[in-house]
Amino acid sequence: IAKECLANQSKHVRLNAFISRASQASILARASAAQDVAPGHWPPHGQLIAIKDNICTTDFPTTAASGTLKNFTSPYDATVVKLLRDAGAIIAGKTNMDEFGMGSHSIHSHFGAVRHEEEEGTVLSAGGSSGGSAVAVSSGQCTAALGTDTGGSVRLPAAYTSIVGFKPSYGLLSRWGVIAYANSLDTVGIIAEDVETTKHLFMTLNKYDSQDPTSLPPSTRARLGATSGFNSDPRHSQRPLRIGIPLEYNISDLHPDVKATWKRALDLLELEGHTLHPVSLPNTRHALSAYYILAPAEASSNLAKYDGVRYGTRADGPDGTPTSVLFAQTRGANLGLEVQRRILLGAFSLSAQAIDNYFIQAQKIRRLVQQDFDRVFATPNPLLSTPDTHAEDEGVDVIISPTAPTPSPLLSTVSSQPPTSAYKNDVFTVPASLAGLPAINIPIMVPQGDKQRPASPSYHSKYSWRTLGVQIIGQYGTDDLVLEVAEALK
Ligand code: GLN
Repeated sequence: IAKECLANQSKHVRLNAFISRASQASILARASAAQDVAPGHWPPHGQLIAIKDNICTTDFPTTAASGTLKNFTSPYDATVVKLLRDAGAIIAGKTNMDEFGMGSHSIHSHFGAVRHEEEEGTVLSAGGSSGGSAVAVSSGQCTAALGTDTGGSVRLPAAYTSIVGFKPSYGLLSRWGVIAYANSLDTVGIIAEDVETTKHLFMTLNKYDSQDPTSLPPSTRARLGATSGFNSDPRHSQRPLRIGIPLEYNISDLHPDVKATWKRALDLLELEGHTLHPVSLPNTRHALSAYYILAPAEASSNLAKYDGVRYGTRADGPDGTPTSVLFAQTRGANLGLEVQRRILLGAFSLSAQAIDNYFIQAQKIRRLVQQDFDRVFATPNPLLSTPDTHAEDEGVDVIISPTAPTPSPLLSTVSSQPPTSAYKNDVFTVPASLAGLPAINIPIMVPQGDKQRPASPSYHSKYSWRTLGVQIIGQYGTDDLVLEVAEALK
């Protein structure tokens, strides 16, 4: 497997999926050592796993695809990286992304855009911001990859590249050693070709970490397992599931193929004996606006430290330059335009004259979005101390929606679009992020997809051209159930 991945890495250099890569010799040495220790062990043992470049590693630079961190190497591994190494994974390298996770097409990188090619000569958007991780997996350059998902950055690239992208419940996977974009939303996610591998990685990484203050404590984890875990409750696998269809997700600019694929996923579940139920999540239509207030607000605070003094590359200037000038020059030169835009947006919405109209309103919407979900799910939200108004018997177990409103657009198209066009791609992914819920993208065959298959072979053998992304969202803590439904749909 290692040899095959290495061959694909050499073959697909132009896709620009990696910012740094492990050497062939070190990978082969580790792969053969892994085989000697425990042959045939399940992933990630002995498997090549790529890491998004905003997750700290000691053996590669960690740049977050930013000019300001281009020379930074972390003195420690992120907890998720340590857990992978402990489980025998081979770290394949660090993947390209939108700078600090800000973007939906992996075009805002100091190291150039990621390219997604399903057909020779047609360059598509890889999705973002974990586009490098998605392309590395879909082009066979590694077995699986870690990404981060703040508002959809694991699910959208997975949808565009026809693979699996899983964002677990907020607080399950450690954020220690993950470069912050918007802490209250940032979640480490898993990208793989199949649900099985995703599950194994999730089991490896789903551990309490005392170094992450938002890591869910062991007592709450125990409660989750007992009350809402799919595996822990044998009745779940016996009984038909109630599947929610969110009416508000049927937006007017939904691409017809996306709509048809969404319907196909629902038909498949119905054929397996599960029942379909329309649900209303009325605050969904405000979720995107709220997200694009909250995420930049947190980002403007988190990124203040990249001033060339405390952190980051310093702009050249004569000795004795006043710090205010030094900061401005440094930040102007080393942060990309999209990052600067977000910092300005965030600084504005947190400012005295704007905070009431923007930041506070967006926080209220965030809570309403969460309450919408709590109202339709059968399982109560385990994080709420007081009983909520959940739907009990008439509630749904999971919600199925499209992941993105359209198939992957051309890279040339998205490169020349105004920023708000990119923001719109996140319309279906941000609600689960605002509520901290588990959500997964899985590739589903487009009805009559075979007819669209191009004559020239694609680098992605199994699915390309014939699948589009469908998203499964579950109540907080029902990650196992979300993975089980994904498996049923594969
Ligand atoms: N596209 C969204 C943004 O630009 C989501 C990014 C992410 O999840 N990191 O903020």
